[in-house]
Amino acid sequence: MFKINENYLKLPGSYLFFTIGKKVKEYSQAHPEKQIIRLGIGDVTQPLAPAIIEAMHGAVDEMGNAETFRGYAPDLGYEFLRNAISRNDYKARGCGISADEIFISDGAKCDSGNIQEIFSVDNRIAVCDPVYPVYVDTNVMAGRTGVYDGKTETWSDVIYMPCLAENDFLPELPKETPDLIYLCFPNNPTGSALKREQLQEWVDYANKVGAVIIYDAAYEAYISQEDVPHSIYECAGAKHCAIELHSFSKNAGFTGVRLGYTVIPKELECDGVTLHSLWARRHGTKYNGAPYIVQRAGEAVYSEAGKEQLKQQVAYYMKNARYILDGLREAGYTVSGGVNAPYIWLKAPKGMTSWEFFDYLLENANVVGTPGSGFGPSGETYFRLTAFGSYENTVEAVERIKAL
Ligand SMILES: *Cc1c(COP(=O)(O)O)cnc(C)c1O
Repeated sequence: MFKINENYLKLPGSYLFFTIGKKVKEYSQAHPEKQIIRLGIGDVTQPLAPAIIEAMHGAVDEMGNAETFRGYAPDLGYEFLRNAISRNDYKARGCGISADEIFISDGAKCDSGNIQEIFSVDNRIAVCDPVYPVYVDTNVMAGRTGVYDGKTETWSDVIYMPCLAENDFLPELPKETPDLIYLCFPNNPTGSALKREQLQEWVDYANKVGAVIIYDAAYEAYISQEDVPHSIYECAGAKHCAIELHSFSKNAGFTGVRLGYTVIPKELECDGVTLHSLWARRHGTKYNGAPYIVQRAGEAVYSEAGKEQLKQQVAYYMKNARYILDGLREAGYTVSGGVNAPYIWLKAPKGMTSWEFFDYLLENANVVGTPGSGFGPSGETYFRLTAFGSYENTVEAVERIKAL
């Protein structure tokens, strides 16, 4: 008789977006005349930039011609894309990451979930609280997290790093020593960002204790402040302790197109075995590459026209972020984020819990956000609004909240 992977049974239900959807549906059925504005789910809304569409059309035509048709992509991705990434995302910033340290994939969610496979199940992970749930849940599936305590909503073998107002929503070095440290900056959900010298402390710490940092840079394109690093490899020593994950979803609107990449420097090794060789082996065995058409679209992100168009796209969302930040501040809310990230993190007023504020906002302003408690216990009493809506809807939502 077969047995299942019982680790899956340990996972607590993920009711966050399901419950939000259910509540919104019930409300709109009871009040069909109300126009609901959704600033909840972290998905982009602007169409793909013209330079990207043009590149995709060109690649589609190539696929329809025997001379230029492409089948399986190279295991680790096409050279043209890996070279463009190495040049633009790294060498232009003074980081010596070469094309052969870059692995092309279909997005950062898969990579952030799969990367734990190349590490021992004995390793202890450390995560921020609140956190992007993928990091924890994939380690639960692998059997690395111990026992779940429903009361505290924590796992016995996970090291949590609370990110609260008193530490500017940034993690502090943990008291217990982790083996794997997941960091995502600029952060989803809080919108906070680490400055270069703060990230350097993490790199120094990881090198000192022999830990690996898994650095999720999905929101790198939203950085507006000079002293916030775009890559962990801007820090000295990071090539010996850090893996970096990138996505084309938030900087270029590829949430439905699917493209990302992972960087593993060749220096990163354990007892003479490079993590690069393990991930290359895994990639070659379990993955057959992102589509050619999509990799050509990714290359266009780095063209002169693509860069200019995407700068405007990011600026469009960040104008929304500014509007939400200023408007809520004026209305007396305690808000943060929104400067280096498309997320605004606010404290629920009048002692409300995250879900109480969710209901209050839905019923009184017809605005949907995300309850902070859905990202971890330290998110309780907080609330996330995203800048990914249209400008008109964002303005309307803020006016409604101000009028409450
Ligand atoms: C959106 C997001 C990603 C990107 O995921 P894709 O699979 O590339 O779309 C990765 N990490 C975080 C924290 C995110 O919010």
